[in-house]
Amino acid sequence: MADTSQIVTRIAPSPTGMMHIGTARTALFNWLFARGRGGKFLLRIEDTDRARSTPEATQAILDGMRWLGLDWDGEAVSQFERVPRHAEVAHRMLAEGTAYKCFATQDEIEAFREAARAENRSTLYLSPWRDVAEGDHPDLPYVVRLKAPRAGETVIEDAVQGTVTFRNDQLDDMVLLRSDGTPTYMLAVVVDDHDMGVTHAIRGDDHLNNAARQAQIYRAMGWAEPVWAHIPLIHGPDGKKLSKRHGATGVMEYAEMGIPPAAMRNYLARLGWSHGDDELFTDAQALEWFDLKGIGKSPARLDMKKLESVAGWHIARMEDADLMEEIARFLALTGQPALSQLQHDLVSAAMYCLKDRAKSLPDLLEKAQFALASRPIEPDEKAAAQLDAVSRGILSELTEHLQNASWSRDTLEATLTLAAEAHGLKFGKLAGPLRAALAGRSATPSVFDMMLVIGRDETIARLTDAASRDG
Ligand code: GLU
Repeated sequence: MADTSQIVTRIAPSPTGMMHIGTARTALFNWLFARGRGGKFLLRIEDTDRARSTPEATQAILDGMRWLGLDWDGEAVSQFERVPRHAEVAHRMLAEGTAYKCFATQDEIEAFREAARAENRSTLYLSPWRDVAEGDHPDLPYVVRLKAPRAGETVIEDAVQGTVTFRNDQLDDMVLLRSDGTPTYMLAVVVDDHDMGVTHAIRGDDHLNNAARQAQIYRAMGWAEPVWAHIPLIHGPDGKKLSKRHGATGVMEYAEMGIPPAAMRNYLARLGWSHGDDELFTDAQALEWFDLKGIGKSPARLDMKKLESVAGWHIARMEDADLMEEIARFLALTGQPALSQLQHDLVSAAMYCLKDRAKSLPDLLEKAQFALASRPIEPDEKAAAQLDAVSRGILSELTEHLQNASWSRDTLEATLTLAAEAHGLKFGKLAGPLRAALAGRSATPSVFDMMLVIGRDETIARLTDAASRDG
């Protein structure tokens, strides 16, 4: 087998104020690819746009990564802090003759384009300084341009897109260093990826055109190019490019919806990548299965129904203690009070009857309402309607039978059935009032589960409260 331990991938987000789910998915793919092969996964913050790159915007990326559980190796790299190194490389290229100083002014470039338009030629700028000897240079501000090949093609072998060919006569001598000495994005990305030892550049296919330009810089420097893998972007359910009107685009919005991160990883992994027909899988499986071959060529569509079913599967199979931790994280994230010790203990004890059908953490908490609520239970409108005079009478009788019943599912079932039958009712008719009394809701776990979890004293107290309501 090939040695894959040297694999290095990275995610290189620009701080925009939030972590987009497209970025989260790209990060996940890079993480799975590297971690599944014993390689390294790095984080680089592309913070050269000083106006946008506030500490808060950078923090939003770190928060998104941490919430999603994508740990990176070493410190996050700041692209801005590496500006001197980018400039150094540009100057080395000048010295080596793979780049040149261009003294053209904006006006000259515009005049060139105008003339080209008038003569119906390509408006791609051809600098007259490309072959001017150093001795003939004026003492004026200049930019550094790549001396790009003028003829032939630049070919990208992309692990997802296949062979992608760019005609060199359609690529200009790109600027590497601006006249103020700051590097352009193209140069910065290549120098950083090279210095960080990145072996695989897995990123959105909106960067495919950049790959051709970046490849030219690699080739000019004689550096090994990474394996390129440009993945199709995520689309909305209507097949159009994902936007706010499709719903949540920030990964933390999903956190606030109460999607557990493990479920988000599963869902995002399937958004554009597949392993046979597998839809539901664990991290261990994803790490074992993930490869570039499984990445599709067409854009994946966001599907909230599917996300809910993936979340349901993960919630159902999570360890109770882990779920309790997720709940604590969710409550903190959404600014809700933490559970009291009693609530924590009751929800933990109830978990067996909660987690099988919950689609999200708030859904789970809604089902756990009986374990979270404290007396007197205030029934919602639908539940209150169950507590008519007849039902209240039966609940009151029941409290007496329950004083001495042994607290097991079988006995409770027999006791409740007998109480219903004494009034010529089926047990089902009693379930509504019991749910209202015990939880104040009409959708709850089974009444037996609720009674077993809260215990005899609390059950009797809640039934007594309900029986004595005015109504
Ligand atoms: N900073 C770029 C972005 O946020 C990513 C650049 C790259 O992956 O090469 O889209």
